[in-house]
Amino acid sequence: MLHVNESYGKIQASYLFTEIAHRVAAHQAANPSAKIIRLGIGDVTEPLAPAVVEAMHKAVDDEASRENFHGYGPEQGYAFLREAAAKVDFQDRGIDIAADEIFISDGAKCDCGNIQELFAGDVRIAVGDPVYPVYVDTNVMAGRTGVNEGGRYGGLTYLVCDASNGFVPSPDSARGCDIVYLCYPNNPTGAVATKAQLQQWVDWANANKALILFDAAYEAFIRTPGIPHSIYECDGARKCAIEFRSYSKTAGFTGVRCGYTVVPKGLVAYAADGRAVELRPMWTRRQTTKFNGASYITQRGAAAIYTPEGQSQCKATIDFYLENGRLMKEALQALGYTVTGGGDSPYLWVNVKGDSWEFFDKLLKEANVVTTPGAGFGKAGEGYIRISSFNSRENVLEAIERLRKVLG
Ligand SMILES: *Cc1c(COP(=O)(O)O)cnc(C)c1O
Repeated sequence: MLHVNESYGKIQASYLFTEIAHRVAAHQAANPSAKIIRLGIGDVTEPLAPAVVEAMHKAVDDEASRENFHGYGPEQGYAFLREAAAKVDFQDRGIDIAADEIFISDGAKCDCGNIQELFAGDVRIAVGDPVYPVYVDTNVMAGRTGVNEGGRYGGLTYLVCDASNGFVPSPDSARGCDIVYLCYPNNPTGAVATKAQLQQWVDWANANKALILFDAAYEAFIRTPGIPHSIYECDGARKCAIEFRSYSKTAGFTGVRCGYTVVPKGLVAYAADGRAVELRPMWTRRQTTKFNGASYITQRGAAAIYTPEGQSQCKATIDFYLENGRLMKEALQALGYTVTGGGDSPYLWVNVKGDSWEFFDKLLKEANVVTTPGAGFGKAGEGYIRISSFNSRENVLEAIERLRKVLG
């Protein structure tokens, strides 16, 4: 008899975004002329940089010619992209990461889920609360948790991120854990971690033979000098951290699909007999077996991000989103709200001084503005809403006017 993976049954239905879609649709149906502005989305709105588009067009022409045609590429990614990423994202910043420690993929979401294949079924996992749901649900699917009770899975350690710790947990809260997911700048809170805070985590991981899975999807939004763009800016991180990078938010690749994972040489986990096992050859084996590479056209587009034109074009787009966030943050603060995030992140995390779904409904019904209720990202998200800066300036200015009317 065929047995199903019952762990899938433990996953709480993706209540958050389904419920939002349901409430927005009901509101629109009841108010057909309402012009709803969506500030809930975690997807970019601006088109690709011209340098990227040009490189991808050229790559299509390559594929159309016998001389320049590319079939299967290396599963780990083309050298031209791995080398550009190693140089610009790390070496130019004084960070010791080599091209052969970079594994190109079709995005960070898959890598965040796939990486767990390298670890035993009983490793103890810590995640932030609130959290990007992918870290949690992939571990539930893999059978690493108990059932969900009261919004939390048994066997998972939740690191509360709230105003009391500046939305950055300390390693004291992860006692006994083997793997911790950290994401800074954070989705959903928009908070950033200082180098001293990340160094504490690196020291903790090295002292406890634990691993940090560092999600740097939003590093390109960092503008404050001194805030780390990479976990590898911390001493000893090469021995205890894997880093996920994505071109989705940094270069508008949410539809194109490309990112990469850094697995440094010498990074190890341990066999039952205590023997150290290197992770990089394991990840190489995993990728070469189960993945056939991101497309040549996509990787040519990604490589163009690293040209001087690509760099300045992508920076201009991110500056545009950051300005959206600055305008909204300023308006909300003037209305008396405490706001985390913005500045170094596309997300604003607004303390609504009450129930997050009630506040969501108020903004939807009275302002025709869609946000994301913090409670949907975890227990500790109750009392907050997330506002995204990914939108047109016109919509942002209109949304600000409406918020002033409703909340002023
Ligand atoms: C958007 C996002 C990603 C990127 O995922 P892709 O699969 O590369 O599009 C990764 N982590 C977080 C926290 C995100 O919000």
